[in-house]
Order: sequence, then C-alpha cells, then structure tokens
Amino acid sequence: MRGQTRSRVQQERMSVLGHTHDRFPEDRRFESKEKQGAGKYVCRRCGAFCQEKHWYMDNDQLKQLVRKNHLTETLCPGCDRIDRRLWEGEVILESPLLEEQKDTVMALIKHTEGKAWHDNPHSRIAEVETNKGRMRILTTTKWLAQRIGKQFYKSFKGELELKPAHREKFIRVYWSRKEG
Ligand SMILES: [Zn+2]
Repeated sequence: MRGQTRSRVQQERMSVLGHTHDRFPEDRRFESKEKQGAGKYVCRRCGAFCQEKHWYMDNDQLKQLVRKNHLTETLCPGCDRIDRRLWEGEVILESPLLEEQKDTVMALIKHTEGKAWHDNPHSRIAEVETNKGRMRILTTTKWLAQRIGKQFYKSFKGELELKPAHREKFIRVYWSRKEG
C-alpha cells in the first residue's frame, strides 16, 4: 500500500487482498521472462490483454482492440509462472459436497481465480486434480491458495488450515467438510 495512511476500504480489504509483499514479490525469479514494453499484448494461454502495462480480462474490449490494433502474443504474468512451473501454493479440498455441488464448486474456484488475477496478474491456477470427494489445486501465488481456502470456508464453513512452509516460498491450504 502506498502512502502514509491506509484508507478504511484498504484496511477492510487487506484480509481479502493479502499484503502487498504477497502480491508483488520482489524475488527476481518471478520477473517475467517475457518483458512487456509499452505496446499492446495478448496472453496466448488465457486470452487476457495488456495495455500500458496493465492486464485486463474483458473479451468485448479485447475484440475491439484486435480490430483496431496489432497485439503481440505473449504470456500474462500468471501464465508465465505456469509455463515456468513456479508454484507457490497447494490447496487440498475434501468433502462429499465437491461432487454433490460440482458446478457451484467449480464456479467458486474460477470466480476466485478471476478476482485474484484482477488484483494481481501473477495469480493463476496451474492445475486442478479431482478425485471424487477430493480436489488438489496448484496456484502460482501463495496468496491465491489462501484466498481459495478462505472462500470455501466462507461459503461452506467446515475446517480450514493454512500451513506455510517456513523455508520455502510455499503454502499448503487444507479445507474439509465432512457432510455434503
Ligand atoms: Zn494468461
């Protein structure tokens, strides 16, 4: 957060947004290998586009841009991490409701990823493995993993456990609910 004082809105959103250092890691490892200059770019994996170094996910606007401008293909910061297999988080979800409310669950995961990416384009889901009442999600930021866990807890209650690995830049998030 820039500035001396945080606004109330910022303070209230801290728990959702995470801390600035989580969102914008300074580690050089995480700098995109594909440098984006001042031009216009489109992510070849997820279709997001970049203008003036800001990333957007808006298909209507993208279509207009494609018509009017030349877009260079690249990877957005999150998809670049996926490409380089840089995972920072693992979420394990366990509950019969994963199967019983499959559509709601998938929509919640996608929606959480979309909102997180909007706040920090380094955040993407890299992999989702589903095995009956268990799901394993790999994320490119610790913060996105936490956010998915917290979102499940908020929507479905159950148990939530966050296990940061101290030496590595990695977090494991466990959420479970016995009943469906
Ligand atoms: Zn992308």
